[in-house]
Amino acid sequence: MTLTEKLLARGTGKDKVSAGDNVWVNVDVLMTHDVCGPGTIGVFKREFGEDAKVWDRDRIVIIPDHYIFTKDSKSNRNVDILREFVKEQDITYFYDVIDDPEGSWKFDPSQGLMNRQYGSHYAGVCHAALPQKGHTRPGEVLLGTDSHTCMAGAFNQFATGIGNTDAGFVMGTGKILLKVPETMHFRLEGKLQPGVMAKDVILHCIGEVGFDGATYRAMQFDGEGASNLSMDDRMTITNMAIEAGGKNGIFEFDAKTEEIVNQRTKLNNTRSSYEPVERDADEDFVYDTVVDLDKLEPTVACHPDPGNRKLAKEMDMQLDRAYIGSCTGGKTSDFLDFAHVVRGKSVKIDTFGVPATPEIVRDLQSTYWGGKTVWDVLKDAGVQMTENAGCSACLGGPVDTFGRMNAPMKCISATNRNFPGRMGHKESQVFLASPATVAASALTGKVTDPREFVS
Ligand code: SF4
Repeated sequence: MTLTEKLLARGTGKDKVSAGDNVWVNVDVLMTHDVCGPGTIGVFKREFGEDAKVWDRDRIVIIPDHYIFTKDSKSNRNVDILREFVKEQDITYFYDVIDDPEGSWKFDPSQGLMNRQYGSHYAGVCHAALPQKGHTRPGEVLLGTDSHTCMAGAFNQFATGIGNTDAGFVMGTGKILLKVPETMHFRLEGKLQPGVMAKDVILHCIGEVGFDGATYRAMQFDGEGASNLSMDDRMTITNMAIEAGGKNGIFEFDAKTEEIVNQRTKLNNTRSSYEPVERDADEDFVYDTVVDLDKLEPTVACHPDPGNRKLAKEMDMQLDRAYIGSCTGGKTSDFLDFAHVVRGKSVKIDTFGVPATPEIVRDLQSTYWGGKTVWDVLKDAGVQMTENAGCSACLGGPVDTFGRMNAPMKCISATNRNFPGRMGHKESQVFLASPATVAASALTGKVTDPREFVS
């Protein structure tokens, strides 16, 4: 069996499952957020009754993160609906925007979009917050009402996005009916070269198979090249499995996985026992390829889809805007790589920086380079940095969202999706790239290979 088949076999309590089998799977963690949470709660209550109780209050994780820093009252209200449900159900893990469990959330635009407006429990973008808060464990099944839930596959678990109807059912039963996906195998060899990042790996792979080339398939990444990647790198790669249509992305378990999972479960006092899955000798793949990391170059997914691949060095495209942020590209390591490129220089086009989580804001504000914080290095280069960590303009959002494109323009972005209208105006164009490529392009005002700036 492949890693994904082994995880689903364990989730069903069977010795063996095969691609194509329909199986009932026991869920370890269900995550939902402010956009889909209220709908999921509605389905749960409609199907199980107004007084029904969730299947396990310790296995539901609720993370508001999408439409938070906006004065849109319906968006603000969604956070209050979550809070009321958490109180009613006594749910253990809720990362509220405010500290007062009796309060209500209202964004105050008079304080501006850049100054922190959240309380001490707020966790930021769900997929980056899940591992930080100790909710990703090898060997488990994690479902979320968000397509990029596949990011948690970096931790050797089966993780995938589901809709509100399925999530309402999981909320009541802890089970889901799943078809076991076929597995595509990406064997990674070698090491990334300077100026080339994990984002280039996944943009390369999606370019190879197309934006629907992995539809309802598992994407398994392994080999010596995978061991050379950091956990942040692996998260960037699994995050975008869905951009090829993938059901899930998955990495092997190793010492790097163990270190972070053990540290984070201990820090947050979450469940700390887990059992990883290992590769079998008899894996059956529907697709098998080798990716030589040494040979990869800075890559861009051009408008209008994530599979529209070009090399940065071959492009000559003027840009209006640059954006670094999101679950994919807003991690501490992403900002550090970005900052290395822009340090001591000035961006030429409007450039927005949105850390994925409050912890990343703290990292950047407490990491010093020669007497200056990385946060200040970025600000001094002209990057508009907001402390209001969250999804922000990755998904467009209400018109007052920080960094949203409210007019037709071209933006190079460290985010993960570039279908028309994704970051705002329906005639705007998004070019997906690594944080290093976004940084180099912000300095020149056109798509630029970052190796020009990286020694
Ligand atoms: S940052 Fe973007 S991709 Fe990630 S969860 Fe938020 S909207 Fe989705």
